[in-house]
Amino acid sequence: MSSQKEIVIVGAGVIGSSIAYHLSRQGVPSQVIEVDSIAARASGKAWAVWSYPPEYLVMEGLETDQLLRATEGSIGPWLEMLSSSYHRIADVAQDLKETGGIDPEYGELSLVMVARSESEEKDYKDFIPFIKNASYHEGYWMSDDELRAIYPDITSQSRGAVVVPQLQVEPYQYTLGLFQAAEKRGASIRQGEVVGFRHKGSKVTSVTLATGTEVEADVFVLATGPWSGQVTSLLGKPVPIIISRLQCLRVEVPKQFPPYELSISEAAFSIIPKVNGTVIMGYAGIPDIQASPDVSLTTEEFKNKIVNEAVGLLPSLQEAKITEHRGDLECWGPPPNCVQPALGRLPGWDNVYIATRFGTSGMMLSLGAGQVMADLIIAGGRAPARFKQMLEALDPAKL
Ligand SMILES: Cc1cc2nc3c(=O)[nH]c(=O)nc-3n(C[C@H](O)[C@H](O)[C@H](O)COP(=O)(O)OP(=O)(O)OC[C@H]3O[C@@H](n4cnc5c(N)ncnc54)[C@H](O)[C@@H]3O)c2cc1C
Repeated sequence: MSSQKEIVIVGAGVIGSSIAYHLSRQGVPSQVIEVDSIAARASGKAWAVWSYPPEYLVMEGLETDQLLRATEGSIGPWLEMLSSSYHRIADVAQDLKETGGIDPEYGELSLVMVARSESEEKDYKDFIPFIKNASYHEGYWMSDDELRAIYPDITSQSRGAVVVPQLQVEPYQYTLGLFQAAEKRGASIRQGEVVGFRHKGSKVTSVTLATGTEVEADVFVLATGPWSGQVTSLLGKPVPIIISRLQCLRVEVPKQFPPYELSISEAAFSIIPKVNGTVIMGYAGIPDIQASPDVSLTTEEFKNKIVNEAVGLLPSLQEAKITEHRGDLECWGPPPNCVQPALGRLPGWDNVYIATRFGTSGMMLSLGAGQVMADLIIAGGRAPARFKQMLEALDPAKL
């Protein structure tokens, strides 16, 4: 594809910004259209933790034997995308500082999954040799005594914990940094709500904004997260999605928190120290509702639930001061593939691409997804060899 082609990306969340970033790194400019502002929605409000790839898939319910067969079917490509994001984030964070002029507050963090029953202790201990066999070398068992030396007031139910590495950023700075680095390399942004498309046959020629303005381009990319159903319905058939709402609290703690994400995996609850010294706490992967896009984004009920869970795990958190209660919508796929993203060409259209359904993992998939999509667009829609298997597995035509 010639770099002269105009590319419009709809949505300046982390996925749209990452696609613009990866295009720009290959000298291809794009124009991002956003109804609100960069990272205004979930992409600016996530915990922004990057799970250790095999551990993430276990948390999503995959059994160990499925992971051992991870090169087959759709799991292998998906794991590849997670790994690609995980292993590149340190370098990209540096580029966002140097080129994007913004510090994404990248940091290393260990995930400490507390076992609270005999069966959890056994499962977690079994998990350690598995991750070592799968060539992910790190991960160890922390005894209850060791855990209590770090957290003297931890719940009396604790029996020790499995520890695996993790990474993190601040989501707003990270997403803004991706776009600003893209902008330095030729991308642009325009505020507007896409409310329609014009087309000639199976080729879209322009998007229509709510103001009536037409924006013409050769290629269109939909990175509209929870609004993907609405936006694709303008092109005939809505992609099937589920919208859920997720909330978290940011608190200030009286003394520096240890550099561990303390987690109760059964409840999908985590307490996460951020690089700037504040602490985020909340539930992941357990949507509190299946929502429509116009629900209220935070609720007192959920705030209280988070506080109760946190204090039950670490009673000293009673002294923490809540400084922020934030929430937003996530876009999942319907069962059984709810946690698998969909990437590729929108079925029925020659020049429209979609990257959606990232659920609770959009931050940590963002670099992999941005790279795959940029390469696909630059190749004119023909899957580059190294991503062929992945794109076939995550093809929106299979939705
Ligand atoms: C509380 C919380 C915690 C989370 N924690 C994590 C985590 O720790 N790790 C992780 O990996 N993920 C996490 N996530 C999930 C992650 O935030 C999302 O998967 C990710 O942000 C999705 O990015 P996106 O770009 O697809 O969507 P969004 O951020 O929703 O961006 C879509 C954009 O499209 C714009 N848009 C929509 N329709 C139109 C239109 N018609 N015209 C113009 N613009 C439009 C919207 O305004 C929006 O800015 C969390 C989410 C929440 C809410």
